[in-house]
Amino acid sequence: VSFVDVETVIAVDVGGSTIKGVVVDRGGRFVHELSRATPTGRGPEAVIAELQAVIAELRTTEAENGAVGAVGVVVPGSVDAAAGVARFSANLGFRDVPVRQLVAEATGLPTVLEHDVRAAGVAEETVGLTADADDYLLAVIGTGIAAVVGGNGGSIRGATQLAGELGHIPVWPDGESCPCGQRGCLERYASAASVNRRYAELSGNELRAEKVIARRDQDSVAARVWQDATESLGLAFATCTMLLDPAVIVLSGGLSQAGAALVDPVRAALAKRIVWRPPPPVLLSQLGDRAGRIGAAVLTWRSLGLDDFAPWRDWYSPIQ
Ligand SMILES: [Zn+2]
Repeated sequence: VSFVDVETVIAVDVGGSTIKGVVVDRGGRFVHELSRATPTGRGPEAVIAELQAVIAELRTTEAENGAVGAVGVVVPGSVDAAAGVARFSANLGFRDVPVRQLVAEATGLPTVLEHDVRAAGVAEETVGLTADADDYLLAVIGTGIAAVVGGNGGSIRGATQLAGELGHIPVWPDGESCPCGQRGCLERYASAASVNRRYAELSGNELRAEKVIARRDQDSVAARVWQDATESLGLAFATCTMLLDPAVIVLSGGLSQAGAALVDPVRAALAKRIVWRPPPPVLLSQLGDRAGRIGAAVLTWRSLGLDDFAPWRDWYSPIQ
């Protein structure tokens, strides 16, 4: 495939609940989107089959949108991007699945595979809040919690590809036990799933995380659960600040939709824990649930030789 003949790429974010695909042109615009439920619990073959179906359906728009030159796929869990293999994902049932090879064989197109949170970091660096930052921390707070430590030198992958497991930083000694085997992990207090679970345990009533947050001023259990969540995040970010001295901490993922209800108490909790230096700014990502797909598209266009992403920044300029 010659770079000049390519008009679009396909970017797909395979999540635990939804497979989100999009056709992205050279200027970074989402020209055609498609989402399907992830067939979780039916094995890795079913997930790969649905991923292939999403790509095939997006390719039917080629007559309208132009030739697709490559495919980028991002998945959660542990990913070996260099090998193109999804090492492990509990939600998707993946264990050593050669996603890049499977997609490339089915489509006949060059394919890129990356970790979803690292891809979100690439999106922030290219069109988001960390575009002008040196070293930064991007925290993705959703069903679970993960992070990217990035900057001028690229993101840190770690010796065993496990860097960024922010959710399993122990924040409370002898705290709640975590399914990972440790105690007091951040994720046990501050993920959307844990806000939901802790409210149910303490009140006896089921309430989704966003409802818990909305009720925090008139419901003492909701107030306590949310206080614990934001206090835990502040404590974890104090640790990260001392270790990394980030230029900015960006909050992304489903819980970041809470807006000021999240960022204000987290800023206060972080400031309370840090005495001898100013805390770094804590900001809310403006990319929403598009971050994984934008990052996948950047990596895919980059693999084809595109190196000027400045026009993309106009398209994704912050809403604020
Ligand atoms: Zn844990």
